[in-house]
Amino acid sequence: MTNLPAKSERVRLPNEFIWTIVFICIFPTVLNSLGFNFGSNKVTLHPTIGLDLQRVADVLQLSLAGSFLVTILEWSAFWTAMFTVILAFTNYKITGDVTTPIIGTVLFCAGAMDGFHTLIIYQSLNGRQIDPNLIPLTWAISQLFYGLLMLITTSLFVAKDKRHIMWEREKGFGFAITISLLFCIIAYGVISLVVKSPHLPTAIFPYSAISRPWDTGPLVLFLITGIFILPKFYKRHESIFSHSLLVSIIPQIFSQIHMAFDSTAIFDNNFNIAHFLKVISYLIPFCGLVLDYHRTYRETESINSRLIIEIANHKATEEKLKHQTVELKRSNEELQQFAYVASHDLQEPLRMVASFTQLLKRRYKDKLDADANEFIDFAVDGVKRMQGLINDLLQFSRITTQAKSLERISSNSALETAINNLKVSIEESKAKITYDKLPVIVADDFQMVQLFQNLIGNGIKYRGDKSPEIKITSCEHDNKWQFSVADNGIGIEKQYFEKIFLIFQRLHTKNEYSGTGIGLAVCKKIIERHSGELWVESELEKGTIFHFTIPMNLGKAN
Ligand code: ADP
Repeated sequence: MTNLPAKSERVRLPNEFIWTIVFICIFPTVLNSLGFNFGSNKVTLHPTIGLDLQRVADVLQLSLAGSFLVTILEWSAFWTAMFTVILAFTNYKITGDVTTPIIGTVLFCAGAMDGFHTLIIYQSLNGRQIDPNLIPLTWAISQLFYGLLMLITTSLFVAKDKRHIMWEREKGFGFAITISLLFCIIAYGVISLVVKSPHLPTAIFPYSAISRPWDTGPLVLFLITGIFILPKFYKRHESIFSHSLLVSIIPQIFSQIHMAFDSTAIFDNNFNIAHFLKVISYLIPFCGLVLDYHRTYRETESINSRLIIEIANHKATEEKLKHQTVELKRSNEELQQFAYVASHDLQEPLRMVASFTQLLKRRYKDKLDADANEFIDFAVDGVKRMQGLINDLLQFSRITTQAKSLERISSNSALETAINNLKVSIEESKAKITYDKLPVIVADDFQMVQLFQNLIGNGIKYRGDKSPEIKITSCEHDNKWQFSVADNGIGIEKQYFEKIFLIFQRLHTKNEYSGTGIGLAVCKKIIERHSGELWVESELEKGTIFHFTIPMNLGKAN
């Protein structure tokens, strides 16, 4: 698996790369100090050459070497910019990061300007003698436009006021490209004008400290962009590409220094070095993009391998879970079977104990002392309670072991049957039961009656001092029927909302309210069997609402 850089590590060009760039920028000057000259030889046709064609050709070739070299360098810059913009757009397609194509377009425009200015110069010559100011001026204009474009675009990306950063949206993308192309056209127009102009201002002052003053403008622009704007831009849009833009300003600055302070003639040593450094400066963002690709590839690869491991882990966990579910189902079934068998089979001996203790009580009532009578009473009472518990347990286990299949039934009829079963306690307590017309559902008829009966029965039982008012309603919710049984009884404290659904869990003693604590556990089990949910909502002294849902896999109630 490929190791990713740590999160805190900044995404940037490697230090070795930056030092290499600095070295490349300084190296020509070092070579110069060692006596090496990069200038193109100035050769003039001397009459002594005569008609020796071979010599004429040699001299001509030598005299053209300078312009050949510059043309090669300018076109190299153009093609580097071209490849960079293609890569930048591909990057945009992959990452959706709008900064890359915009800056890519700026680079492309700069490259195009370099191309134009070389092209225009050669086209416009038409046999005319070349004005010595033309090439320095067009160079300065191209660099000035590039510097301006870079400064404006990156400044807009780092603008603090979010409203101005329309660049980050799709709309800004088109806008930025239009601006860049517009700049390109203006640059083309200005260069053409300069080329066609019969009188050009002096561009080279060989004996002055600033030999090419026109080139100080771009130099200042590059310095401002490099020192103030690009570091912020990199911080805000951290990528190898944005870092490479920052680094690319180094050779641009060196290039402009060579031009503005040291170049005293076209094709001289500093002139050629400046052209070479410009190509280097265009190559850096190109390398930045390539390295960004490499990084993205590594990241994707790492994510992929992590994903593969995670999928494998997931599969293993899934298998384990499946196994555990099967195990759980089996032990659950065993337990249910055990509860059923135990409660069923215990009934018979218990009935025997009950009848014989009762017999004992009847027969020996007057023959034993008061203590013995009391003990017999305790035994009878205990046996009765045990019978009650065992009956409840049997009822509980029957929910799954002896369940009927689910059918389309009227929940309204189930409710009415439940009310009918509770007739005596309803009359005794003078309970007022109201209900909406309930829907047709898919359920176990018998269990629905049991469910309503338990809930309404509790509403009556836990009424407190008030005469009970119980309301049963239903509504449609998320493809389920939601039923509610609301009463005006004693209510339940919030902390017991979970506990009351557990088997044999009660909140009251049998002296306060009779019962075994199985009713709600039975309701819960019935609802679970119907793939629904049962929960409670209650406020002490105000009343309780039991809600339950039944999935609506049949249409609405008629
Ligand atoms: P039981 O009624 O036999 O105690 P249940 O399982 O039906 O068993 O209820 C468990 C507990 O929940 C009860 O002891 C009671 O405290 C509380 N409870 C149930 N229904 C209501 C209700 N409608 N109002 C207030 N308390 C209730």
